[in-house]
Amino acid sequence: NKIIVVGAVAGGATVASQIRRLDSESEIVVYEKDRDMSFANCGLPYYLGEVVEDRDLMLSATPEQFYDKKNITVKTYHEAIALNDAHKTITIKNHQTGETFEDQYDTLILSPGCRARHLPIQSDRVFTLRNLVDTDEIENFIVNEKVQSALIVGAGYVSLEILENLFYRGIETTLIHRSDHINKSMDKDLNNVIFEELDKREIQYRLNEEIESITDRTVTFKSGHVEDYDIVITGVGIEPNSDWLKSSSLQLNEQGYVPVNEYFETNLEGVYAIGDVIETFYRHTKKPTSITLAWGAHRAASLIAENLVAKSSNEKSAFRGLLGTNIVRVFDYALGSVGISESELENYDVDVVEQTQKQHAGYYPNAEPITLRVYFEKSSRKILRACAVGKDGADKRIDILSTAIIGELTIDELRDIEIAYAPPFSSPKDIVNMIGYKAQ
Ligand code: FAD
Repeated sequence: NKIIVVGAVAGGATVASQIRRLDSESEIVVYEKDRDMSFANCGLPYYLGEVVEDRDLMLSATPEQFYDKKNITVKTYHEAIALNDAHKTITIKNHQTGETFEDQYDTLILSPGCRARHLPIQSDRVFTLRNLVDTDEIENFIVNEKVQSALIVGAGYVSLEILENLFYRGIETTLIHRSDHINKSMDKDLNNVIFEELDKREIQYRLNEEIESITDRTVTFKSGHVEDYDIVITGVGIEPNSDWLKSSSLQLNEQGYVPVNEYFETNLEGVYAIGDVIETFYRHTKKPTSITLAWGAHRAASLIAENLVAKSSNEKSAFRGLLGTNIVRVFDYALGSVGISESELENYDVDVVEQTQKQHAGYYPNAEPITLRVYFEKSSRKILRACAVGKDGADKRIDILSTAIIGELTIDELRDIEIAYAPPFSSPKDIVNMIGYKAQ
């Protein structure tokens, strides 16, 4: 049995390892188009901020280690350029030699992820952050050009992380966003604390703002502003790395994501897809979604590995869907949400309950308010979405809400969640319980 994996980072490297854990026989080959495998995407902003100082910690494995320890062949600078599903082969281009060849698979697992969208601007001061190569380029530029000012374009969670990290590194940062809804995963009004955090630090930002052009350090904005920056880092969205699959019979959705079933099977026999590139479904509503976060890639990797060694279809485990549980820290605050998006709520008859209270006993030091907002379907009283914002303890409440949705609790049953209480941690009536009481 020959298993080929495309992409060697979160989904690809993990699925290859997980398969090897359970199957010592199959040949496993992983193709990665870029320089590195298994780098820690999520840690890159913190490396740029010098919070994580050791670059080696950003690379958790090399092809040599994978071969020596796991007998998995990883070929970097090898890009999959075509899927020939009728013959069960893929065409690979070796970027170091220019050579092109075909490789035959019995099982093919696609984990090519997404790429950063680029603004149509030519400038050697403009960067995006997606992988360790980008990180090295940004780091070198900051050091060599003695960067003192940075323009961050776009205000998704990665941009916010970069902004925070460059600020802590002592670089004067400015943020622009082309609409007035930053940090899209969060309810718009709950993002107000982000603006307060920026104001507190005198970090400039402008909403409904876009770049018109860049000439050397001078950035001309659509609003007419003209300002100088040493570096510009854009985070203006991502798109799936699926163009190379268009010539095959693999089904893609309108946005280019690969629809999969609960076994991560595509429409083609023997071809699976995982990670950021897939269209999967919400656990609680069963509606289709694409969530480009790391948890799903790791869950899929384990399930595929288990299912590939399953002796019968009865032994196979189906994926139960995801909730898009997410969190970002912006200076002193954490903002997390779980469930369908704010805009998807309009497809349901919903009610909402909100509570703001201290994360732990008010008399205990460092008590700070958290706001928890929970949306539920009126008829079933099932929870559809929740948001939490606070300086401390928002992560715990979002994780509790994630577990509650997975356990199909109703809003009323939040009263029954027996939290661990001592003054430094919570209250006898925790904010999660209060949401349940308030819903009555
Ligand atoms: P990737 O990990 O992106 O790997 C895909 C790999 O496939 C790439 O290396 C690519 O070069 C390769 N590839 C693409 N096309 C081909 C081809 N044709 N042939 C060969 N190779 C190919 N998620 C979180 O949950 N929490 C976070 O805090 C978080 N922070 C992030 C911060 C940053 C800066 C970034 C960039 C991402 C962050 N993410 C975070 C998202 C998370 O990294 C992704 O969800 C996850 O990496 C997806 O895994 P994947 O395997 O689908 O794609």
